[in-house]
Amino acid sequence: MHIGVMGGTFDPIHIGHLIAAEQARDRMELDEVWFMPAFRPPHKASAPVAEARHRLEMVRLAIAAAKPHFRLCLHEFEREGVSYTYNTAQELIRRYPGHRFSWIIGADMVRFLPQWHNIDELVKIVSFIGLPRPGYAPAEADLPEAIRAAVRMTDMPAVDISSTAIRNMAARGRSFRFLVPEAVYEYIRENRLYAT
Ligand code: ATP
Ligand code: MG
Repeated sequence: MHIGVMGGTFDPIHIGHLIAAEQARDRMELDEVWFMPAFRPPHKASAPVAEARHRLEMVRLAIAAAKPHFRLCLHEFEREGVSYTYNTAQELIRRYPGHRFSWIIGADMVRFLPQWHNIDELVKIVSFIGLPRPGYAPAEADLPEAIRAAVRMTDMPAVDISSTAIRNMAARGRSFRFLVPEAVYEYIRENRLYAT
């Protein structure tokens, strides 16, 4: 099986993540997409705003309707600490020797790949499916050859939404309804996650 791994902080998960995962699945003929919330993302200067259990529950709610194509994968949560993709990839390959794994990433992360922990080894064991993202110019052509060879770009309808924008809207009391699945919207409001 060819598995797409959709990693993220998901603080909160939004329709950009879901559309990216579904378009990658369809266009790259992936068998499944595993959503992998980061316990502690290595590249973010500050800690996630919502507690880990809330971010996890929001991912669970968001993908519930998309079974069996989408699944929740808890490796980074169970390992705790900083969530380096290289460690996660090694663990997945060890646990699922019959699968091959491609990480699904937006254009902001494509640009950032050279800075990923142990990237020279990581590109030998997994590949990447890159998607465009509004506000980020295509960067794959600028990547060092060894990294570029591991990246395949595909396309999706542009979704100009980020978790940061949603957190800001929520904090200002503005509506972010329909930018996240309805169940996630209700969960955020019930738990007053990003209200100030
Ligand atoms: P934040 O603003 O907190 O960084 P985010 O919206 O970037 O949140 P992340 O959890 O950081 O969400 O992103 C997880 C993955 O999803 C990354 O690879 C990112 O590039 C990708 N992604 C997020 N939003 C989009 C989008 N609108 N279009 C394409 N890819 C996206
Ligand atoms: Mg981000």
